[in-house]
Amino acid sequence: MAKHEVDVVIVGGGIAGLSAAYWLLHDAPDLRIALLEAEERVGGKMQQARFADGHVIDVGPDALWIQSPAVSGMLEELGIADPAVRPVNTATGILHHGEVRPLPCGIVGGIPTDLAAARKAGLLSARGALRASHEEKHLHLHAAEDTSVFHAVEERLGTEVAESVVDPLIGGIYAGDTRSMSLEATAPHLFALYCDGKPFLSTLQHTAGKMNGLATFAPDGLSTLVTTLQDALRSRIAVQCSAPVDKLEPSARGYVVRSGSHEWHGEHVVLAVPSYVSAALLGKVDPQSAAALHAIPYASVTTVTLALASDEWVMHDVPGFVIPRGEGELLTALTCLSERWTHHRSRNTVYVRCSLGRIDDDRPDALSEQELLERVHRDVERLLRVHAPLQEGIVHRWSGALPQYAVGHRERLAPCMDLRERGIECIGAAFGGVGVASCIDQGAAAAARLLRKVSSSQPAQGVLA
Ligand SMILES: Cc1cc2nc3c(=O)[nH]c(=O)nc-3n(C[C@H](O)[C@H](O)[C@H](O)COP(=O)(O)OP(=O)(O)OC[C@H]3O[C@@H](n4cnc5c(N)ncnc54)[C@H](O)[C@@H]3O)c2cc1C
Repeated sequence: MAKHEVDVVIVGGGIAGLSAAYWLLHDAPDLRIALLEAEERVGGKMQQARFADGHVIDVGPDALWIQSPAVSGMLEELGIADPAVRPVNTATGILHHGEVRPLPCGIVGGIPTDLAAARKAGLLSARGALRASHEEKHLHLHAAEDTSVFHAVEERLGTEVAESVVDPLIGGIYAGDTRSMSLEATAPHLFALYCDGKPFLSTLQHTAGKMNGLATFAPDGLSTLVTTLQDALRSRIAVQCSAPVDKLEPSARGYVVRSGSHEWHGEHVVLAVPSYVSAALLGKVDPQSAAALHAIPYASVTTVTLALASDEWVMHDVPGFVIPRGEGELLTALTCLSERWTHHRSRNTVYVRCSLGRIDDDRPDALSEQELLERVHRDVERLLRVHAPLQEGIVHRWSGALPQYAVGHRERLAPCMDLRERGIECIGAAFGGVGVASCIDQGAAAAARLLRKVSSSQPAQGVLA
């Protein structure tokens, strides 16, 4: 057995693990860090694919929100803040009774704060808008007890807002169902307002229009962030790919992390892997945390990106839209990449990306790749009202991709947060938000907490409590 002595072992080289490594090194350049990644490459869900014509697309996340100081700071220091590109057409819509309705102004965190605009856009009926406008009559104090996103929005703004706007917008991010999604974990700002009996609409109206930070990188998409981070970390920390961690055990100094015939001995461990992987690793360290992590459900999704002949293409006012479950479509979202981003423009080809699959919809899994391409192509032509022969398509199936924050998520995960005292940080999509930016923030926060522990020389206690 080969043994390696380090200060921190990071398990998982997705964006959360890479961010933790980056911020640890940033503030403590002498720290000895090992990052262990199961696959041949780091990046996790951030993956790209190439069409036969050489055009590169992201098959996982394809844009991130540049808002938090951790995200903008990282991009600036890596020297990629300027190459970050913004969409040329930011308009987004919702398919509503078969018609694409543009999202009206005033949508904040999935909530339509400008009811007149939502009504005008055709997203709400007169009755639905009227019910929502009576929110003041439905303000109640609630004990700080979690509830579902759908239930809270329905109580405050009525069923129509919950079903037609909030479920597709918030549920869509998680490929989930807001009827079972935790308000506390998914929308903490709404949870605070809900418990305090404060209005959603008038409170959120003040922040409308301040959330525009969507970006990616040209020409290679979000993978640019991965490769740049990898270059920044290279030679400064031990990044070990093809090293699936199969064991985590307490030791006198902290923890022993094993992958095959190699052991890493470290004082602190960052688990930046899907929760079902953390659950398996934590079995011997903390069975309660392991059980909580094991219970987190995951939605499987599929992305299908089509290269279409552009001869008869017509531009759309709204190049991307989400599709509520009630529409009965196979697709859950569609973005015409070539209309959204200039680097996806090409002389003869239009690129269109579609998402399929939800926690309660596994129909795409039953279709072969060829069937998916044919079906999605037909749906794209119908929904976009274009005739565009298929040149090529890329199908990527993401099994167990998006964790679901069920009601009570935060409370159930409390034991995992207690592990911080024992030198273990659990971060990533299963914890503080699934977005790439949230994962970067979590990596930065975990690094800051670990460094406080290191500087106060508090010894980690791996021993079973
Ligand atoms: C199709 C799709 C589209 C998305 N679109 C967007 C988007 O546009 N914008 C956005 O912000 N977010 C988007 N997301 C969400 C976002 O991409 C993910 O939530 C985020 O990238 C997760 O990062 P992570 O580091 O937590 O986990 P992961 O990316 O899953 O990384 C975990 C890593 O751990 C490794 N690992 C697993 N087991 C082991 C083991 N035993 N030992 C060592 N390593 C192990 C894995 O190989 C992986 O590299 C999308 C997600 C999907 C699936």
